[in-house]
Amino acid sequence: MSETVDADGDQLRALEERVIELQRALALSRQQLDLERLKLRQTEAALWQMATLVGAAPFGVLLMDAHGVITDVNHEAERLLGMRREKILGLTLRELVEPSRRGTVDGLLDRVRAGEMIRGVERRLWPEQAKPLGDTGVMFPIHGPNGDVVGAALTEDVQEIKDMRTLLADANVELAQLAVVDGLTGLTNRRGYEQAIDREVRRAARRGEPLSVAMLDVDDFKAFNDSFGHSRGDQCLRAIARALDGAARRAGDLVARYGGEEFVAVLPGVDHRRACIMAERLRRAVEHLGIVNPASQHGVVTVSVGVVTIVPRRQQGGLELVAAADRALYLAKENGRNRVEAVDLGAPGLTTEAGAGSERASDDGGSR
Ligand code: GH3
Ligand code: MG
Ligand code: MG
Repeated sequence: MSETVDADGDQLRALEERVIELQRALALSRQQLDLERLKLRQTEAALWQMATLVGAAPFGVLLMDAHGVITDVNHEAERLLGMRREKILGLTLRELVEPSRRGTVDGLLDRVRAGEMIRGVERRLWPEQAKPLGDTGVMFPIHGPNGDVVGAALTEDVQEIKDMRTLLADANVELAQLAVVDGLTGLTNRRGYEQAIDREVRRAARRGEPLSVAMLDVDDFKAFNDSFGHSRGDQCLRAIARALDGAARRAGDLVARYGGEEFVAVLPGVDHRRACIMAERLRRAVEHLGIVNPASQHGVVTVSVGVVTIVPRRQQGGLELVAAADRALYLAKENGRNRVEAVDLGAPGLTTEAGAGSERASDDGGSR
Protein backbone atom coordinates (compact mmCIF):
# COMPACT_ATOMS: atom_id res chain seq x y z
CA MET A 1 0.00 0.00 0.00
CA SER A 2 2.67 2.49 1.03
CA GLU A 3 4.70 1.56 -2.07
CA THR A 4 1.76 2.53 -4.26
CA VAL A 5 1.42 5.83 -2.42
CA ASP A 6 5.15 6.54 -2.92
CA ALA A 7 4.94 5.68 -6.61
CA ASP A 8 1.94 8.01 -7.02
CA GLY A 9 3.81 10.79 -5.16
CA ASP A 10 6.85 10.43 -7.45
CA GLN A 11 4.70 10.56 -10.54
CA LEU A 12 2.92 13.62 -9.22
CA ARG A 13 6.20 15.43 -8.48
CA ALA A 14 7.56 14.50 -11.90
CA LEU A 15 4.40 15.84 -13.47
CA GLU A 16 4.59 19.07 -11.46
CA GLU A 17 8.22 19.58 -12.49
CA ARG A 18 7.29 18.98 -16.12
CA VAL A 19 4.50 21.52 -15.88
CA ILE A 20 6.87 24.10 -14.33
CA GLU A 21 9.41 23.36 -17.05
CA LEU A 22 6.79 23.80 -19.74
CA GLN A 23 5.58 27.02 -18.16
CA ARG A 24 9.14 28.38 -18.19
CA ALA A 25 9.60 27.34 -21.79
CA LEU A 26 6.30 29.00 -22.66
CA ALA A 27 7.28 32.22 -20.89
CA LEU A 28 10.59 32.20 -22.72
CA SER A 29 8.89 31.63 -26.06
CA ARG A 30 6.53 34.48 -25.32
CA GLN A 31 9.44 36.77 -24.55
CA GLN A 32 11.15 35.70 -27.77
CA LEU A 33 7.93 36.22 -29.67
CA ASP A 34 7.55 39.73 -28.22
CA LEU A 35 11.13 40.46 -29.19
CA GLU A 36 10.56 39.20 -32.72
CA ARG A 37 7.37 41.25 -32.97
CA LEU A 38 9.27 44.35 -31.85
CA LYS A 39 11.99 43.71 -34.41
CA LEU A 40 9.38 43.21 -37.10
CA ARG A 41 7.68 46.47 -36.19
CA GLN A 42 11.01 48.27 -36.26
CA THR A 43 11.86 46.78 -39.65
CA GLU A 44 8.41 47.69 -40.97
CA ALA A 45 8.82 51.24 -39.69
CA ALA A 46 12.27 51.52 -41.27
CA LEU A 47 10.98 50.16 -44.57
CA TRP A 48 8.02 52.49 -44.47
CA GLN A 49 10.34 55.41 -43.74
CA MET A 50 12.60 54.43 -46.65
CA ALA A 51 9.67 54.03 -49.00
CA THR A 52 8.32 57.42 -47.97
CA LEU A 53 11.71 59.05 -48.40
CA VAL A 54 12.30 57.49 -51.80
CA GLY A 55 8.72 58.21 -52.82
CA ALA A 56 9.09 61.88 -51.97
CA ALA A 57 12.66 62.24 -53.23
CA PRO A 58 13.20 65.19 -55.55
CA PHE A 59 15.05 62.94 -57.99
CA GLY A 60 13.83 59.97 -59.99
CA VAL A 61 14.84 56.61 -58.51
CA LEU A 62 15.10 53.48 -60.67
CA LEU A 63 16.01 50.29 -58.79
CA MET A 64 17.34 47.48 -60.99
CA ASP A 65 18.26 43.83 -60.65
CA ALA A 66 21.55 42.32 -61.82
CA HIS A 67 20.28 42.26 -65.43
CA GLY A 68 19.34 45.92 -65.42
CA VAL A 69 15.62 45.13 -65.24
CA ILE A 70 13.81 47.90 -63.39
CA THR A 71 12.22 46.53 -60.20
CA ASP A 72 10.97 49.72 -58.60
CA VAL A 73 10.55 53.42 -59.41
CA ASN A 74 9.42 56.44 -57.45
CA HIS A 75 6.98 59.14 -58.38
CA GLU A 76 9.64 61.55 -59.69
CA ALA A 77 11.00 58.85 -62.03
CA GLU A 78 7.49 58.39 -63.44
CA ARG A 79 7.27 62.15 -64.00
CA LEU A 80 10.69 62.46 -65.61
CA LEU A 81 10.13 59.52 -67.92
CA GLY A 82 6.56 60.55 -68.64
CA MET A 83 5.39 56.98 -68.04
CA ARG A 84 3.29 55.19 -65.42
CA ARG A 85 5.00 52.79 -63.03
CA GLU A 86 3.20 49.76 -64.48
CA LYS A 87 4.71 50.49 -67.91
CA ILE A 88 8.23 50.88 -66.54
CA LEU A 89 8.56 47.89 -64.19
CA GLY A 90 9.99 44.75 -65.77
CA LEU A 91 11.75 46.66 -68.57
CA THR A 92 15.36 47.76 -68.81
CA LEU A 93 16.24 51.41 -69.18
CA ARG A 94 17.46 50.80 -72.75
CA GLU A 95 14.04 49.37 -73.63
CA LEU A 96 12.40 52.63 -72.59
CA VAL A 97 14.31 54.85 -75.00
CA GLU A 98 14.37 55.28 -78.75
CA PRO A 99 16.24 52.38 -80.45
CA SER A 100 18.84 54.79 -81.84
CA ARG A 101 19.68 56.00 -78.31
CA ARG A 102 20.12 52.57 -76.73
CA GLY A 103 23.87 52.45 -77.20
CA THR A 104 24.29 55.76 -75.41
CA VAL A 105 22.03 54.65 -72.53
CA ASP A 106 24.04 51.42 -72.15
CA GLY A 107 27.21 53.50 -71.93
CA LEU A 108 25.66 55.77 -69.31
CA LEU A 109 24.50 52.82 -67.22
CA ASP A 110 27.95 51.23 -67.35
CA ARG A 111 29.46 54.43 -66.00
CA VAL A 112 26.79 54.71 -63.28
CA ARG A 113 27.40 51.06 -62.29
CA ALA A 114 31.05 51.98 -61.94
CA GLY A 115 29.95 54.58 -59.40
CA GLU A 116 30.18 57.70 -61.57
CA MET A 117 27.93 60.75 -61.38
CA ILE A 118 27.22 61.99 -64.90
CA ARG A 119 26.22 65.57 -65.63
CA GLY A 120 24.89 66.92 -68.90
CA VAL A 121 22.74 63.88 -69.70
CA GLU A 122 20.84 65.08 -72.72
CA ARG A 123 17.11 65.38 -72.62
CA ARG A 124 16.69 63.95 -76.11
CA LEU A 125 17.96 60.61 -74.81
CA TRP A 126 14.76 60.06 -72.93
CA PRO A 127 11.48 58.76 -74.26
CA GLU A 128 9.44 61.09 -76.44
CA GLN A 129 6.93 61.73 -73.67
CA ALA A 130 9.54 62.56 -71.00
CA LYS A 131 9.00 66.01 -69.51
CA PRO A 132 12.09 67.28 -67.74
CA LEU A 133 12.22 71.02 -67.13
CA GLY A 134 15.66 71.56 -68.52
CA ASP A 135 17.57 70.27 -71.50
CA THR A 136 20.13 68.33 -69.52
CA GLY A 137 19.97 66.14 -66.46
CA VAL A 138 22.17 64.39 -63.93
CA MET A 139 22.40 60.62 -63.46
CA PHE A 140 24.04 59.05 -60.41
CA PRO A 141 24.29 55.60 -58.80
CA ILE A 142 22.20 54.31 -55.91
CA HIS A 143 24.18 51.97 -53.66
CA GLY A 144 22.71 48.99 -51.79
CA PRO A 145 23.59 48.01 -48.17
CA ASN A 146 26.75 46.16 -49.24
CA GLY A 147 27.95 48.92 -51.52
CA ASP A 148 26.75 47.44 -54.81
CA VAL A 149 25.06 49.72 -57.28
CA VAL A 150 21.37 48.70 -57.15
CA GLY A 151 19.93 51.45 -59.24
CA ALA A 152 20.24 54.81 -60.89
CA ALA A 153 18.88 58.18 -59.94
CA LEU A 154 17.85 60.80 -62.48
CA THR A 155 17.40 64.44 -61.80
CA GLU A 156 17.17 67.69 -63.67
CA ASP A 157 20.29 69.78 -63.67
CA VAL A 158 19.97 72.11 -60.69
CA GLN A 159 22.24 74.69 -62.24
CA GLU A 160 20.10 74.73 -65.32
CA ILE A 161 16.94 75.03 -63.25
CA LYS A 162 18.57 77.96 -61.43
CA ASP A 163 19.31 79.61 -64.76
CA MET A 164 15.73 79.04 -65.84
CA ARG A 165 14.44 80.55 -62.60
CA THR A 166 16.50 83.65 -63.30
CA LEU A 167 15.05 83.81 -66.78
CA LEU A 168 11.57 83.38 -65.34
CA ALA A 169 12.14 86.16 -62.80
CA ASP A 170 13.36 88.44 -65.60
CA ALA A 171 10.30 87.56 -67.66
CA ASN A 172 8.06 88.40 -64.70
CA VAL A 173 9.70 91.79 -64.32
CA GLU A 174 9.14 92.40 -68.02
CA LEU A 175 5.53 91.30 -67.72
CA ALA A 176 4.99 93.63 -64.76
CA GLN A 177 6.40 96.43 -66.88
CA LEU A 178 3.99 95.54 -69.65
CA ALA A 179 1.05 95.43 -67.24
CA VAL A 180 -1.29 98.38 -67.35
CA VAL A 181 -3.18 97.85 -64.09
CA ASP A 182 -2.20 99.56 -60.85
CA GLY A 183 -1.69 96.99 -58.11
CA LEU A 184 -3.06 99.10 -55.27
CA THR A 185 -6.21 100.58 -56.75
CA GLY A 186 -7.00 98.37 -59.73
CA LEU A 187 -7.19 101.49 -61.91
CA THR A 188 -5.19 101.82 -65.13
CA ASN A 189 -1.59 102.65 -64.19
CA ARG A 190 0.74 105.31 -65.53
CA ARG A 191 1.84 103.12 -68.40
CA GLY A 192 -1.77 102.42 -69.41
CA TYR A 193 -2.53 106.12 -69.17
CA GLU A 194 0.37 107.01 -71.46
CA GLN A 195 -0.83 104.53 -74.05
CA ALA A 196 -4.37 105.88 -73.78
CA ILE A 197 -3.46 109.56 -74.01
CA ASP A 198 -1.40 109.02 -77.17
CA ARG A 199 -4.27 107.11 -78.71
CA GLU A 200 -6.83 109.75 -77.73
CA VAL A 201 -4.68 112.67 -78.97
CA ARG A 202 -4.36 110.98 -82.36
CA ARG A 203 -8.05 110.21 -82.49
CA ALA A 204 -9.08 113.76 -81.48
CA ALA A 205 -6.66 115.23 -84.04
CA ARG A 206 -8.10 112.97 -86.75
CA ARG A 207 -11.65 113.94 -85.92
CA GLY A 208 -10.98 117.58 -85.06
CA GLU A 209 -12.65 117.02 -81.68
CA PRO A 210 -11.71 118.44 -78.27
CA LEU A 211 -9.92 116.34 -75.69
CA SER A 212 -9.81 117.19 -71.99
CA VAL A 213 -7.53 115.91 -69.25
CA ALA A 214 -7.90 116.42 -65.50
CA MET A 215 -4.91 115.96 -63.18
CA LEU A 216 -5.87 115.31 -59.56
CA ASP A 217 -3.66 115.39 -56.49
CA VAL A 218 -4.81 114.41 -53.00
CA ASP A 219 -4.49 117.36 -50.63
CA ASP A 220 -2.37 117.14 -47.48
CA PHE A 221 -1.92 113.43 -47.94
CA LYS A 222 1.46 113.25 -46.28
CA ALA A 223 -0.19 114.52 -43.12
CA PHE A 224 -2.96 111.92 -43.52
CA ASN A 225 -0.32 109.16 -43.61
CA ASP A 226 1.43 110.72 -40.64
CA SER A 227 -1.82 110.73 -38.65
CA PHE A 228 -3.18 107.29 -39.51
CA GLY A 229 -0.30 105.28 -40.97
CA HIS A 230 0.60 104.10 -44.45
CA SER A 231 -1.87 101.24 -44.49
CA ARG A 232 -4.87 103.54 -43.83
CA GLY A 233 -3.32 105.81 -46.46
CA ASP A 234 -3.49 102.92 -48.93
CA GLN A 235 -7.12 102.24 -47.99
CA CYS A 236 -7.88 105.91 -48.55
CA LEU A 237 -6.27 105.84 -52.01
CA ARG A 238 -8.39 102.81 -52.90
CA ALA A 239 -11.56 104.59 -51.78
CA ILE A 240 -10.60 107.67 -53.80
CA ALA A 241 -9.93 105.50 -56.84
CA ARG A 242 -13.40 103.93 -56.59
CA ALA A 243 -15.04 107.31 -56.13
CA LEU A 244 -13.27 108.84 -59.14
CA ASP A 245 -13.97 105.83 -61.31
CA GLY A 246 -17.64 105.98 -60.33
CA ALA A 247 -17.83 109.69 -61.08
CA ALA A 248 -16.36 109.39 -64.60
CA ARG A 249 -19.36 107.66 -66.03
CA ARG A 250 -19.17 108.04 -69.79
CA ALA A 251 -18.01 105.00 -71.73
CA GLY A 252 -14.90 106.70 -73.18
CA ASP A 253 -13.70 108.25 -69.89
CA LEU A 254 -10.58 106.83 -68.34
CA VAL A 255 -9.43 107.37 -64.76
CA ALA A 256 -5.84 106.27 -64.08
CA ARG A 257 -3.46 106.39 -61.14
CA TYR A 258 -0.72 108.67 -62.37
CA GLY A 259 1.54 107.76 -59.44
CA GLY A 260 1.61 108.14 -55.63
CA GLU A 261 -1.44 110.20 -54.61
CA GLU A 262 -1.98 111.59 -58.08
CA PHE A 263 -4.71 110.57 -60.49
CA VAL A 264 -5.58 111.58 -64.03
CA ALA A 265 -8.83 111.52 -65.96
CA VAL A 266 -8.86 111.41 -69.76
CA LEU A 267 -12.09 112.79 -71.17
CA PRO A 268 -12.30 112.33 -74.95
CA GLY A 269 -14.66 114.51 -76.97
CA VAL A 270 -15.29 116.77 -73.96
CA ASP A 271 -15.15 120.54 -74.55
CA HIS A 272 -13.83 123.02 -72.05
CA ARG A 273 -17.13 123.89 -70.40
CA ARG A 274 -18.12 120.27 -69.86
CA ALA A 275 -14.61 119.38 -68.75
CA CYS A 276 -14.90 121.90 -65.93
CA ILE A 277 -18.22 120.39 -64.86
CA MET A 278 -16.79 116.87 -64.95
CA ALA A 279 -13.66 117.89 -63.05
CA GLU A 280 -15.86 119.45 -60.41
CA ARG A 281 -17.86 116.22 -60.19
CA LEU A 282 -14.61 114.31 -59.57
CA ARG A 283 -13.54 116.77 -56.87
CA ARG A 284 -16.90 116.52 -55.14
CA ALA A 285 -16.94 112.69 -55.30
CA VAL A 286 -13.79 112.61 -53.16
CA GLU A 287 -14.98 115.26 -50.73
CA HIS A 288 -18.25 113.36 -50.27
CA LEU A 289 -16.40 110.25 -49.16
CA GLY A 290 -16.05 112.14 -45.87
CA ILE A 291 -12.76 110.50 -44.91
CA VAL A 292 -11.48 112.46 -41.94
CA ASN A 293 -8.15 114.25 -42.42
CA PRO A 294 -7.34 116.36 -39.35
CA ALA A 295 -4.59 118.19 -41.26
CA SER A 296 -6.99 119.47 -43.89
CA GLN A 297 -8.71 122.81 -43.45
CA HIS A 298 -11.83 121.07 -44.77
CA GLY A 299 -11.62 118.35 -42.14
CA VAL A 300 -11.86 115.61 -44.76
CA VAL A 301 -9.71 114.17 -47.53
CA THR A 302 -9.97 116.30 -50.68
CA VAL A 303 -8.32 116.63 -54.08
CA SER A 304 -7.12 119.59 -56.12
CA VAL A 305 -7.79 119.38 -59.84
CA GLY A 306 -6.14 120.96 -62.85
CA VAL A 307 -8.13 120.53 -66.04
CA VAL A 308 -7.08 121.30 -69.59
CA THR A 309 -8.82 121.10 -72.95
CA ILE A 310 -7.23 120.97 -76.35
CA VAL A 311 -8.18 120.38 -79.95
CA PRO A 312 -4.97 118.57 -80.85
CA ARG A 313 -3.00 118.91 -84.01
CA ARG A 314 -1.91 115.68 -85.61
CA GLN A 315 1.74 115.81 -84.59
CA GLN A 316 0.99 116.67 -80.97
CA GLY A 317 1.59 114.20 -78.17
CA GLY A 318 0.07 114.05 -74.70
CA LEU A 319 2.99 115.86 -73.05
CA GLU A 320 1.76 119.37 -73.70
CA LEU A 321 -1.61 118.46 -72.23
CA VAL A 322 -0.12 117.08 -69.06
CA ALA A 323 2.21 120.05 -68.62
CA ALA A 324 -0.73 122.42 -68.92
CA ALA A 325 -2.89 120.32 -66.57
CA ASP A 326 0.00 120.33 -64.11
CA ARG A 327 0.18 124.12 -64.24
CA ALA A 328 -3.54 124.33 -63.56
CA LEU A 329 -3.19 121.86 -60.70
CA TYR A 330 -0.41 123.94 -59.20
CA LEU A 331 -2.73 126.93 -59.36
CA ALA A 332 -5.48 124.96 -57.61
CA LYS A 333 -3.04 124.16 -54.78
CA GLU A 334 -1.92 127.76 -54.63
CA ASN A 335 -5.48 129.00 -54.49
CA GLY A 336 -6.37 126.93 -51.44
CA ARG A 337 -6.70 123.24 -52.48
CA ASN A 338 -9.96 121.27 -52.81
CA ARG A 339 -10.74 123.20 -55.98
CA VAL A 340 -10.63 123.02 -59.77
CA GLU A 341 -8.54 125.28 -61.99
CA ALA A 342 -8.80 125.06 -65.74
CA VAL A 343 -6.80 125.93 -68.86
CA ASP A 344 -8.33 126.04 -72.32
CA LEU A 345 -5.66 125.34 -74.92
CA GLY A 346 -8.35 125.05 -77.56
CA ALA A 347 -8.84 128.80 -77.51
CA PRO A 348 -6.30 131.10 -79.17
CA GLY A 349 -3.50 131.91 -76.71
CA LEU A 350 -3.46 130.34 -73.28
CA THR A 351 -6.35 131.24 -71.05
CA THR A 352 -6.58 130.31 -67.43
CA GLU A 353 -10.12 130.17 -66.25
CA ALA A 354 -11.52 130.36 -62.78
CA GLY A 355 -14.83 129.12 -64.11
CA ALA A 356 -14.67 125.67 -62.55
CA GLY A 357 -13.89 127.12 -59.19
CA SER A 358 -16.97 129.31 -59.34
CA GLU A 359 -19.11 126.31 -60.36
CA ARG A 360 -18.05 124.64 -57.15
CA ALA A 361 -18.70 127.84 -55.20
CA SER A 362 -22.26 127.87 -56.47
CA ASP A 363 -22.60 124.21 -55.41
CA ASP A 364 -21.59 124.44 -51.83
CA GLY A 365 -21.34 128.05 -50.88
CA GLY A 366 -17.65 128.57 -51.64
CA SER A 367 -16.17 127.21 -48.44
CA ARG A 368 -12.53 127.43 -49.63
P1 GH3 B 1 -0.31 118.64 -51.17
O1 GH3 B 1 -1.64 119.03 -50.68
O2 GH3 B 1 0.56 119.80 -51.45
O3 GH3 B 1 -0.41 117.72 -52.32
O4 GH3 B 1 0.37 117.88 -49.94
P2 GH3 B 1 0.71 116.34 -49.86
O5 GH3 B 1 1.05 116.04 -48.46
O6 GH3 B 1 -0.41 115.54 -50.43
O7 GH3 B 1 1.92 116.20 -50.85
P3 GH3 B 1 3.35 115.59 -50.66
O8 GH3 B 1 3.89 115.51 -52.06
O9 GH3 B 1 4.12 116.36 -49.64
O10 GH3 B 1 3.09 114.14 -50.09
C1 GH3 B 1 2.49 113.14 -50.82
C2 GH3 B 1 2.31 111.97 -49.88
O11 GH3 B 1 1.63 110.92 -50.51
C3 GH3 B 1 3.62 111.46 -49.37
C4 GH3 B 1 3.56 110.01 -49.66
O12 GH3 B 1 3.98 109.23 -48.56
C5 GH3 B 1 2.10 109.73 -49.94
N1 GH3 B 1 1.93 108.62 -50.83
C6 GH3 B 1 2.32 108.53 -52.12
N2 GH3 B 1 2.00 107.29 -52.62
C7 GH3 B 1 1.40 106.62 -51.60
C8 GH3 B 1 0.86 105.31 -51.49
O13 GH3 B 1 0.86 104.50 -52.42
N3 GH3 B 1 0.33 104.93 -50.30
C9 GH3 B 1 0.31 105.80 -49.24
N4 GH3 B 1 -0.24 105.38 -48.12
N5 GH3 B 1 0.84 107.03 -49.32
C10 GH3 B 1 1.37 107.44 -50.48
MG1 MG C 1 1.58 114.86 -55.20
MG1 MG D 1 -0.77 115.70 -52.54
